[in-house]
Amino acid sequence: MRILIVGPQGAGKGTQASRLAENLGIPHISTGDIFRANVGAGTELGVLAKKYMDAGELVPDEVTVAMVAARFDEPDAAKGFLLDGFPRTVGQANKLGEILVERNEDIDKVLLLEVPDDVLLGRMLARGRADDTADAITRRLELYHQETKPLLDYYADRLVAIDGVGGIDEVQQRALKALGH
Ligand code: AMP
Repeated sequence: MRILIVGPQGAGKGTQASRLAENLGIPHISTGDIFRANVGAGTELGVLAKKYMDAGELVPDEVTVAMVAARFDEPDAAKGFLLDGFPRTVGQANKLGEILVERNEDIDKVLLLEVPDDVLLGRMLARGRADDTADAITRRLELYHQETKPLLDYYADRLVAIDGVGGIDEVQQRALKALGH
């Protein structure tokens, strides 16, 4: 099964995605996690990505798309994946489509985690990540509304939306059910 998970920052997307991937037996591919691992290891990619991440801006597509394509080539991604944090724009969705066509693959479902803005802000302030400065939070939220929300129309034919407010297990059960499990 090939799934995308979409939702604003603070929606609990990362937590739900890693559990979901485990429950479904597919790898959790998070572009944010891969970038953070590279920043931590001080790789060339990490040094480049950090400038954008600290500002809440998107890392340039040529870097991000190549990174995702390389990840798909790893053997564990052959049977499916849960993609988290990519695509974030319609441009990236088009690139993803091109990569998947070449592989004879397609996205089965797009899972949207819906959480109201006031709940999001509280969760983000509690999370305390290095790039959770007020400016970066505001910028990521702006980008979500401008760039990522259009993806919901793009993937309208395979979109499933769930309420992301509630306990971790409760939301996980909703997600599994929405995906037909
Ligand atoms: P996340 O963990 O998904 O919130 O991502 C953290 C940061 O990594 C973002 O604010 C961006 O700077 C960068 N990033 C993650 N995914 C992408 C993507 N698909 N395109 C561009 N930049 C990304």
